[in-house]
Amino acid sequence: MAAHQEKKLAEERKHQNMQNDTKVSQGQWGRAWEVDWFSLASIIFLLMFAPLIVYYFIMSCDQYQCSLTDPLLDLLTGNKHLSDIWNRTPTLTYRAAGIYSLWVAFQVVLYVSIPDFCHKFLPGYVGGVQEGAVTPAGVVNKYEINGLQAWIITHVLWFANASCFHFFSPTIIFDNWIPLLWCANILGYTVSTFAMIKGYFFPTNAKDCKFTGNFFYDYMMGIEFNPRIGKWFDFKLFFNGRPGIVAWTLINLSFAAKQQELYGKVTNSMILVNVLQGIYVLDFFWNEAWYLKTIDICHDHFGWYLGWGDCVWLPYLYTLQGLYLVYHPVQLCTAHAAGVLMLGLLGYFIFRMTNHQKDLFRRTNGNCRIWGKKPEYIECSYVSVDGTKYYSKLMTSGFWGWARHFNYTGDLMGSLAYCLACGFEHILPYFYIVYMTILLTHRCIRDEHRCCSKYGKDWKRYTAAVPYRLLPGIF
Ligand code: NDP
Repeated sequence: MAAHQEKKLAEERKHQNMQNDTKVSQGQWGRAWEVDWFSLASIIFLLMFAPLIVYYFIMSCDQYQCSLTDPLLDLLTGNKHLSDIWNRTPTLTYRAAGIYSLWVAFQVVLYVSIPDFCHKFLPGYVGGVQEGAVTPAGVVNKYEINGLQAWIITHVLWFANASCFHFFSPTIIFDNWIPLLWCANILGYTVSTFAMIKGYFFPTNAKDCKFTGNFFYDYMMGIEFNPRIGKWFDFKLFFNGRPGIVAWTLINLSFAAKQQELYGKVTNSMILVNVLQGIYVLDFFWNEAWYLKTIDICHDHFGWYLGWGDCVWLPYLYTLQGLYLVYHPVQLCTAHAAGVLMLGLLGYFIFRMTNHQKDLFRRTNGNCRIWGKKPEYIECSYVSVDGTKYYSKLMTSGFWGWARHFNYTGDLMGSLAYCLACGFEHILPYFYIVYMTILLTHRCIRDEHRCCSKYGKDWKRYTAAVPYRLLPGIF
């Protein structure tokens, strides 16, 4: 079995590395081959507690008006037992299972059977068949980029139903929120388990598989780099973008519809959350081809982290602000609303421009203009597993000269804006900015570790030229 041979090779590589630990491990960039105790402890913690964290947040809204402390106080004072809370939690229903199955099936159909037509009439939009980055094994995958089209079709149908057909209520998502959580978990665990089995027995590309020998690490971080079914069904592109991110804006719309139903109006805070997160989601689909060059696709393997994360964590925790606003219909004063809008738009502008500068720079191989000037860069090289040498460039001007991850800084400003839209009464909506700060700081460190292995001394020249990570002069 090809995967087993690769596992053997991994053991040999591990042995060679241990014999010469001073050698830079070029050709071995990508996810770690060895697991340190801290990574293992974090992974076991997440496997055990991430599903509970999601449940706790959603249950707090359902049973405690979004207070995060009241359930704990009830439990600690003996006022309630775990079983009381559990017994009041809505269970899986046939209706939710039906809605969820239809939803996922519909997104699969949109993904695999309708080739992109948006790029034929939308100027500047890059869709249709596109190539990903070179994988550590030297493979270049092709992707059908049709996420924008899937998003548009889904939302047109949603609005057509809400305004004309009335087959279902727009509050359908909110009304089935906890039963749908169980469905999302079933899909998340099924997909992650399937990906692990597939990695062992029928990988899409055995040379791009990684086995650390640690079951928990492999389950969480994934074995296969780009698992696929057939030529086009790519797990990473599908699960991250749809059903998770297409659902994000629909979920927010459903929360807005619930506010309308309960209070007879939609508050300005709910509109702000819908608009700012809507821009972020639309940006993702407009730039789906660019997404092929991000860490998720270029470096992460597909395991529970992406599989379960995309099915459960993303749709449930990225939408907490909208959920909170259903229980607390905050109406912001004009100055507060304007401040949130400006912070959100400025964050988005920085996020987009920084990502755009890198994309333009890489696409044109440095033959472009950044802020009206020829970009400055550092020439670097790396080696793939088969020994082929590749050349690349790291830009040191524009936003990339200010900090090594200024795109994350913009993302964090936008994330803070979503939270501030919910006022200051509860901490639950602020979970997002805390989580994003941890995620992006960790991602920054993880990416730099990988880039250091990939580019060796060239990376050190780059970090000397651009010394800060997120905030110039501070961090
Ligand atoms: P980046 O888009 O910053 O990509 C990092 C990669 O870019 C590096 O691995 C390296 O890849 C290349 N690179 C690094 N420095 C330079 C440089 N100076 N010049 C040219 N290329 C460089 O990171 P992500 O993929 O993590 O993020 C993409 C976006 O997605 C970010 O804006 C982030 O905020 C957002 N994001 C949002 C999340 C969310 O949950 N909302 C989660 C994660 C990301 P190479 O090997 O090609 O050299």
